[in-house]
Amino acid sequence: MTFSELLLHWYDAHRRSLPWRGARDPYAIWLSEIMLQQTRAETVEGYYARFLARFPDVRALAAAPEEEVLKLWEGLGYYSRARNLHAAAKLVCCELGGRFPGTAAGLRALPGIGPYAANAIASIAFGECVPALDGNQARVLSRILAWEAPLKTPFDLLDPATALISRERPGDYNQALMDLGATVCLPKQPRCEACPAADCCKARAEDAAPDFPRKPAPVPKKEQAWTILLVTVNGRLLVRRRPKGLLGGLYEFCPVEGWPEPEALPGALDALGFGPTRLVAALPPSKHVFTHLVWHMRGWATACEQVPEGFRAVTRDELDALPFPTALKVYRRAAESLPGLR
Ligand code: SF4
Repeated sequence: MTFSELLLHWYDAHRRSLPWRGARDPYAIWLSEIMLQQTRAETVEGYYARFLARFPDVRALAAAPEEEVLKLWEGLGYYSRARNLHAAAKLVCCELGGRFPGTAAGLRALPGIGPYAANAIASIAFGECVPALDGNQARVLSRILAWEAPLKTPFDLLDPATALISRERPGDYNQALMDLGATVCLPKQPRCEACPAADCCKARAEDAAPDFPRKPAPVPKKEQAWTILLVTVNGRLLVRRRPKGLLGGLYEFCPVEGWPEPEALPGALDALGFGPTRLVAALPPSKHVFTHLVWHMRGWATACEQVPEGFRAVTRDELDALPFPTALKVYRRAAESLPGLR
C-alpha cells in the first residue's frame, strides 16, 4: 500500500470524533479551520459549538457587531483571527452573494485565510488536491521523508506533500495527517509502535524520529515591561479599545510603558489627562508570552478625577460585556474585586 492508502485505512478506523468532522458546509469548515490554528482541538470544541449556535451561517456572522464576535472569541487568543473572520464574512455576503470561493486560490483572497487554511478548506469542502501544510503535517512528513533541510515554514515541503496527497480523498487525507500528528506522531515522543506508516518512515528507520523536523536557529523573543493601571473615577473603571495591530479591537486598562517608580506614577497619569491621581494598592505581577514577544507586567489600582480622551468609564456590569485579551487576565480578575467599583 502507498503512504496515503495506509494513512486513510488508519483514519477510517481511528479518526478523532470532533464536532466539525463530516461537515460539508464550507462556512462550518472555514470556522473550524480558523479556530484550530495555534489552538488545541479540545479547546476549540466549546467555542465552535457556541459560535455556530449564535452565528449559524455566514450571513448571521456578517450582520453581527464586531464587539459581539470578539466577546464570543474571548479566551481563544490570536484575536486577529476573529476580526478577519468577521471581515471575510462581510465580504462573502456583500461581494460574493453569500457563497464561498470554491478553490484554494479563491479562498486566499479572503481576509485571514492563508495558504494552510485555504488548502484545508478547499480539500475538505470542495475535494481539491492540495496539502494542508501546518506544523503538524510538516512534522509527520519531515519524519516520513527524513527531510534534512531546516523548515522555515511548513510550505517548504509543498512539493513532496503534493506528490503524496491522495487524489481520491484529499480532504480525508489532510484530516488523517492532522489526526496522526495530534495523536501518534507527537512532537517529543512519537508513538511509532502505533503508527500506520511505521514501515515507510525513514526517520524511524534511522531511529531519529524526535530529531525531525530540522529547525532553523531560533529568533529570540522581544521582551517588554508594562505597568498596568486599573484606574477608577467616581466608582467607574477606565477602559479603552486597543487600536488595530496586536490584540486590536479588544479592551485594555491603562498601560504605561516600563516600570516607573510608584512615586512617579501619579505625575505621569496627570500628564496623560487623568488629573490628580492616587495609588490605592499594588496588584500582582504577571507575564504573558506571545509568539514573538513577552510582556512582563506589574500593576496598580489607582483612583483619579478625570476621564481622559480615548477612555470609557464603565460599571461592573458593563465591564462583564467587554472582550479582554487573555494577556490581561490577572488584571481583569483583579478588576472584579476593586474597592469602590459599582
Ligand atoms: S513512524 Fe513514528 S516518526 Fe514516523 S510518522 Fe509514524 S509516528 Fe511519526
